[in-house]
Amino acid sequence: ITITRLISTVGKTSQWMKALTPPPELASVSLDDTIFSKLRNDPEALQGRASRDYGNLVREVPSAVFHPTSSSDIARLIKLSYNGSVPFKIAARGQGHSTRGQAMVRDGVVVDMAGFRERGNGEGIRVVMSVVVDPNNKNGYGYYYADVGGEQLWIDVLNATLEHGLAPMSWTDYLYLTVGGTLSNAGISGQTFRYGPQITTVRQMDVITGKGEFVTCSQQTNSELFHAVLGGLGQFGIITRARIALAPAPKRVKWVRLLYNDFSAFTKDQEQLISITRRKQNIALDYLEGLLLMHQGPINNWRSSFFPLADHARIISLVTKHSVLYCLEVAKYYDGQNENNVDKELKVLLQGLSYIPGFYYEKDVSYVEFLNRVRSGELKLQSQGLWDVPHPWLNLFIPKSQIMEFDSGVFKNIILKRNITTGPVLVYPMNRNKWDNRMSASIPDEDIFYTVGFLHSSGFDNWKAYDAQNKEILQFCNDSGIKVKQYLPHYRTQEDWTNHFGPKWRTFVERKHQFDPKMILSPGQRIFNN
Ligand code: FAD
Repeated sequence: ITITRLISTVGKTSQWMKALTPPPELASVSLDDTIFSKLRNDPEALQGRASRDYGNLVREVPSAVFHPTSSSDIARLIKLSYNGSVPFKIAARGQGHSTRGQAMVRDGVVVDMAGFRERGNGEGIRVVMSVVVDPNNKNGYGYYYADVGGEQLWIDVLNATLEHGLAPMSWTDYLYLTVGGTLSNAGISGQTFRYGPQITTVRQMDVITGKGEFVTCSQQTNSELFHAVLGGLGQFGIITRARIALAPAPKRVKWVRLLYNDFSAFTKDQEQLISITRRKQNIALDYLEGLLLMHQGPINNWRSSFFPLADHARIISLVTKHSVLYCLEVAKYYDGQNENNVDKELKVLLQGLSYIPGFYYEKDVSYVEFLNRVRSGELKLQSQGLWDVPHPWLNLFIPKSQIMEFDSGVFKNIILKRNITTGPVLVYPMNRNKWDNRMSASIPDEDIFYTVGFLHSSGFDNWKAYDAQNKEILQFCNDSGIKVKQYLPHYRTQEDWTNHFGPKWRTFVERKHQFDPKMILSPGQRIFNN
């Protein structure tokens, strides 16, 4: 059975089917029955989620959508392509929460990992396959690990591990993302400065390479593949299992926001709070982020609603006065019992900071409420039909030594002047020594670097204005020698990718030749086939 026949059986007559002539490379492939029965090419499958993502800026219609029910199905599909005379492209699609088509594949096959998760699979994978206690292998926080499917959502990993009184230490702000999707990037949030990005909390993985080989890898075994895949933008294999380090889960969280009107004071305090000196006292914060409050945007946004209603007027009037305020956001976990202790520790940690007197806000919430803080905003936007709008996002890493220049050139001279940004703008620092340079993720070459996230939502008719602003930001950085790297990168030329990976580019290319020599996987990243 060929994909040509498969496609022709589904209704040649419809307009759209005519438009979907299979590419010659797919036409030459013959399929075994197991694969055949799990491929769909009906309009609903092709025009549905497989051809869209959260960004809503790009559409690529695949030739077919594959619904695996086991890891071996995925291996078989990739092998089919690898062994075919002309290989076809394949992209795993987690939640499709990329913004620039990174999980799409035109004229190829999308592997629907969400369907894999929703239906379960023949091997009986639950959210957490098992919690492993390994007394010989301490992970820095304890001896616990969970084996989770690459297709699983972090929210489900959280709920499942909490049943054992345990949880991963490193998170993303939003938990409805897949394990495989965030590990292909890095997985960052306010915990990263202390616990590292999510990729550094992985102890072992099962990966199906671009040759269709099923490989278990770790720091010790098949370490080249292990390091390649983490932060590897889906280029080297599909993650079907990841072993994630766990620690005893806290019960509650003290969550604090402090307002600044001076960027230099704000970043100085952020850097001090993530510094080793404070951490050595063993009373470190567990989370640190920061965001801009601008006069044109609401002070509470979908990422979290925080400020008490009674204080909105005075915060807004301060934002209006200064055009922009900087909000430092920190959190400290505790067991729910020793509230006095955590209060004392927070006091020590936050003493001497230069926020505007009187603009200190604190909440005491459950651990799950804190980690899942973005969800309520999402549901609200969904109910208003505003979640599925275009998202011309730009996420950057910026060396600490250039953050002041970035502030004056970008925040003050582009963002405030253009006056179109209303969505969240995040700014927070991380420690480079919490990353692992052997992994594929590319970060600035300084001990401390910032992440800045412009998380725009736009209308369908005006997203280009945000894109133009993004381009202006990148152009400014380029012209003034600010060595930014994109996070969740989107580049158009090979030269941009070479610059992005810098000294890692050669290794990245060598690993691609080793693990996906026929350039089958994740073409939507546009690294090897742009
Ligand atoms: P997809 O978008 O489906 O895929 C991303 C890439 O990974 C694609 O190239 C795809 O082919 C590949 N891929 C998918 N699954 C696998 C797999 N199993 N094995 C190998 N490759 C695979 N990121 C952060 O780091 N921190 C945040 O706080 C954060 N917050 C976010 C909030 C929102 C509302 C959104 C929409 C995104 C956020 N992100 C954040 C970005 C997010 O981590 C990335 O978009 C990530 O790629 C999303 O995962 P996904 O499961 O949707 O992956």
